[in-house]
Amino acid sequence: MRRTRTLAGIGIAATALIALTACNSGSPTIPGGDGGDEGDAPAYEVAQDVQLEGSPTFDAMVERGGPIIGVKEDQPNLGYLDATTNERSGFDIEIARWIAASLGFEESDITYEPIASANREQALVNGDIDYYVGTYSITDSRKEQIDFAGPYFVTGQGFLVAADSEMTEVGDVSDFNGMTVCSATGSTPISNIKENYPEIKTEEYDVYSACVEDLISGKVDAVTTDAAILIGYAAQYPDDVKLLDGLFTEERYGVGLPKGDTALQEHINTLFTDGGDTWQAIFDATLGQSGIEVEQPAVD
Ligand code: GLU
Repeated sequence: MRRTRTLAGIGIAATALIALTACNSGSPTIPGGDGGDEGDAPAYEVAQDVQLEGSPTFDAMVERGGPIIGVKEDQPNLGYLDATTNERSGFDIEIARWIAASLGFEESDITYEPIASANREQALVNGDIDYYVGTYSITDSRKEQIDFAGPYFVTGQGFLVAADSEMTEVGDVSDFNGMTVCSATGSTPISNIKENYPEIKTEEYDVYSACVEDLISGKVDAVTTDAAILIGYAAQYPDDVKLLDGLFTEERYGVGLPKGDTALQEHINTLFTDGGDTWQAIFDATLGQSGIEVEQPAVD
């Protein structure tokens, strides 16, 4: 059976996903991106005297004097590094900062490590990073090597095409049969295409921004990944690309953690559950700037 489901088949997530597409025609801004209005992210209270019994990852952070956090840096509104100001912004970056503060670390204690989709599990297994926050879908196969806290966000696979394309929506992924679609190596969207749609030709890079460049130069027909990511590129290049209506799969974002560190996993899940308005404030200041409306999901 194909793992891809149509929007109608997704059930509970459908409302959130519909909201995501419905607002696609608005005029999104890119916090921290090219010329976007930056919303005000909350100031996180740095916890004092944190004890996290039985967490080797936390012990390593304390010994080092701060966490090393794996992130993305080419995804506007999610995980973005402004090359001019050297500032990081986006929903995932704020989630990463919130977690760090809850563990007792200041922003200046954090080391960010950009890690591509294909290298996330290995970075956690090797201990190169303490945790990863970057559009990281919770999947059973990834859980064989690592653990996840969350989910903290739900989206679905979408498609970005040239702004002058005649397509406006995707009825089924097979609409792209015979075309070339680009995505990131090691991601769930590229696996979906390769495993279930053999008539679609694929192009792969380590980062999505390289796919978007190929789309703009006409080398590929579409870019596919999570709609939450694509909406940021559509905002960055409104004259060149557009996000099609139609979402496939359910992508539940988790915080990647070293396997077996249940103390850290429970700490983060409690933060998400008992965090009051913080999640909403983060969302409103980042992804919500695109005009999308999504509710915080319950943690597993
Ligand atoms: N959420 C998908 C994944 O974890 C696609 C986005 C990404 O590559 O980070 O594979």
